[in-house]
Amino acid sequence: MYGKVAIDQFGLFICEFPVRGANGELETCKHRAKDLVRHLRSHGISSKDYKKMLGLNRKESLLSEETLKSLRKANIKYKNYENLEKGKPFRFRKGSSHAQKYDRSEQTKKRLRGLRKK
Ligand SMILES: [Zn+2]
Repeated sequence: MYGKVAIDQFGLFICEFPVRGANGELETCKHRAKDLVRHLRSHGISSKDYKKMLGLNRKESLLSEETLKSLRKANIKYKNYENLEKGKPFRFRKGSSHAQKYDRSEQTKKRLRGLRKK
């Protein structure tokens, strides 16, 4: 579904990449996985492009809590947080009128519309 992450009743991600079915019709892949990022490589698409295609937030996770937990562990082990100190303190560019100039994803637009109604 556009603007929403597809998850089944067991909490598995459902791949919504368009593929050709046996009859030649376009359908969604429907592959189920704990983590979608690796599977997306089989379609030759990055998770960034997949999210863009489906109107998802850039920061929306396509990884399970379990995988995130082990990645966090590895980040501490290999001191990846030290990279943050090398980064720039602000994403705001000099001379621009406001900080967040990017187009909102469909997911965010839906959420913001919901907030307005309350
Ligand atoms: Zn797929």
